[in-house]
Amino acid sequence: MASSNPAAGASLDGPGGPNLGAPIHKPLTELEVTLEANRCLNCYDAPCMRACPTHIDVASFIGKIATGNLKGSARVILDANPMGASCARVCPTEELCEGACVYKKDDTPIRIGDLQRYSIDWVMDHDVDLFAPGPVTGKKVAIIGGGPAGRSAARDLRRIGHAVTIFESRDGLNGLNTYGIVPFRLSTDVALWEAQQVVKLGVDVRTGVRVGVDVSMDSLMKDFDAVVLACGMGNVPKLGIPGEDLLNVWDALDFIERAKLGKSVGQLGNHVAVIGAGNTAIDALTCAKRLGVERVTMYYRRGEEQMTAYQFEYEFAKMEGIEFRFFCAPRRIIGEMHVSAVEFVKTAIPAGDAGAAPVVVPGSEFVEPVSAVIRAIGQSRLHDTFSAVGIETDGGVVCVDDALQTSRTGVFAAGDCIFEKGMREAMVVEAAEQGKLVARSIDAYLREGART
Ligand SMILES: Cc1cc2nc3c(=O)[nH]c(=O)nc-3n(C[C@H](O)[C@H](O)[C@H](O)COP(=O)(O)OP(=O)(O)OC[C@H]3O[C@@H](n4cnc5c(N)ncnc54)[C@H](O)[C@@H]3O)c2cc1C
Ligand code: SF4
Repeated sequence: MASSNPAAGASLDGPGGPNLGAPIHKPLTELEVTLEANRCLNCYDAPCMRACPTHIDVASFIGKIATGNLKGSARVILDANPMGASCARVCPTEELCEGACVYKKDDTPIRIGDLQRYSIDWVMDHDVDLFAPGPVTGKKVAIIGGGPAGRSAARDLRRIGHAVTIFESRDGLNGLNTYGIVPFRLSTDVALWEAQQVVKLGVDVRTGVRVGVDVSMDSLMKDFDAVVLACGMGNVPKLGIPGEDLLNVWDALDFIERAKLGKSVGQLGNHVAVIGAGNTAIDALTCAKRLGVERVTMYYRRGEEQMTAYQFEYEFAKMEGIEFRFFCAPRRIIGEMHVSAVEFVKTAIPAGDAGAAPVVVPGSEFVEPVSAVIRAIGQSRLHDTFSAVGIETDGGVVCVDDALQTSRTGVFAAGDCIFEKGMREAMVVEAAEQGKLVARSIDAYLREGART
C-alpha cells in the first residue's frame, strides 16, 4: 500500500541503536569547537574544498562557526551538500577533506567532519528551515528511489521550483542512510530528519511503490516532464557454494538492516563468519560483535594489503575485537538445518603478479566450526528496474553522458546505480553531488524544452 509518510516503517530510535552500543564519534564539546575552528588558516587554494566531492566552502563555514554564526555556517554546508547532516557523520574524511588539510602533514588535520556536525546539529536542535521552494515553474519531475541521490536531486529541484514526486519501494525514505549504514555511525533519527526536510519543501513522497512493478515507466513518462533514476544497488550476491540455503546464512545488508531497526536476527551462536573484506563486511562484523557474539571472524581470499575496506575501518574492527583470516575462500557451508561449520580452502596470489586472481592451494582444505555466515561480497545490480526503465547499461552500470542523462531522452541517473569501480566511489557524498548535478541538468533540459 502506497504511503506518503517518509518515516513509515522505520523506527526513530529502535532498540537496534542502544543494543548496538555507543556511537563511534562523540560530538565535539564547545571548547573543542572553539579550538578547532580557530585553527583554520583559511588557505588561499582551499585543498579541503577541492577534496570534498560537493565542494563545500570549508573555510567559510568554519569561519562562521568561529564567529558564532551557526545558522550561516549550516547554510554554507547544506547549500553545497543537501546530505550535509549524514555526511558529517559518515564521510571517510581521512580520504577527503581532512586528508587534504595542510595540518595533515603533522597528523593533526582540522576536524572538519565534526565541525560540520556541530553546525548541522544546531539546525536540527533548533528546527531551523534554511531553504524554501523556488517560484513555480509548472514542470514535474519523477524520482525513482528516495536514497541520498534521489533526495539530493529532489531538494535542489524544489529549490528551483519544479514539482517533484519521489517513488520509493521501501516504507521509508533515505535509502541506505536509513536502512544500511550502522547506527553507531549514523542513527536512524538523523536519516529521517534529512527525509523530513524534503517533505517540508513540498516534495510528494510515495513510499511502498516499486517502479516497474507498482507503477510503469510509461505512466511516468506520460505524467512527468523528466525522470531521475536513483535506485542504488541491490542485495549481496550469493557465494555460489553448497549450503547457502541453511538457516543462519545471511545477506550482510539484510543482517545490518534488521540489527539497525532493532528487529530480531535470531540466535547467531558463538562464532559468526563474515565472507568479504570491504566496508560492508566491516559493518556486518562489528554489528555481530556488538550484538554480543563471542567470536566474529572475517575470511578473505586475498591478503591484508588488498582489503577494500578503508584503513580506519580496519583499525576500528580490530579495536572491536574482530578476528581476521586472510588467503582463504569458502568451499561449502556445512550443517543439518542450521550452519555448523564452513569448509575453506587456502588461496595464494601467483608470484610476481599482485593484481592476479588468487589461486586455490591444492589439498589445503580446512573446516572452521561456525554458527552463522554473513556474505558481504559487494552488491548486485538492479537489472529488473533498468529494463523496466528501458535504458542502456554496461556491465550492470547505467550509462550516462556528461549531463548524467541516460540513453533515454529525459531520463537522468545518479548515485550508486551509476557507480563504477575505479571511476566513482559509492559514498553518500558522491550520491549527494550527483543528485545536485542531475537537478541542474534537468533544469537546463526543461528550460531548453520550453524554448523549442
Ligand atoms: C552497509 C553499507 C555501509 C555504508 N557505509 C557508508 C559510509 O559509512 N559512508 C558513506 O559515505 N557511504 C557508505 N555507504 C555507501 C552509501 O550508503 C551509498 O553510496 C549511498 O546510499 C548511495 O545512495 P543512492 O541514493 O544512490 O542509493 P540507495 O541509498 O541505495 O537508495 C536507493 C533507493 O532506491 C530505492 N529503489 C530501488 N529500486 C526502486 C524501484 N524500482 N522503485 C522505487 N524505488 C526503488 C531503494 O529502496 C532505495 O531506498 C555504505 C553502504 C552500505 C551498503
Ligand atoms: S561533505 Fe564530507 S568531504 Fe565534504 S567537507 Fe563535509 S565531511 Fe568533508
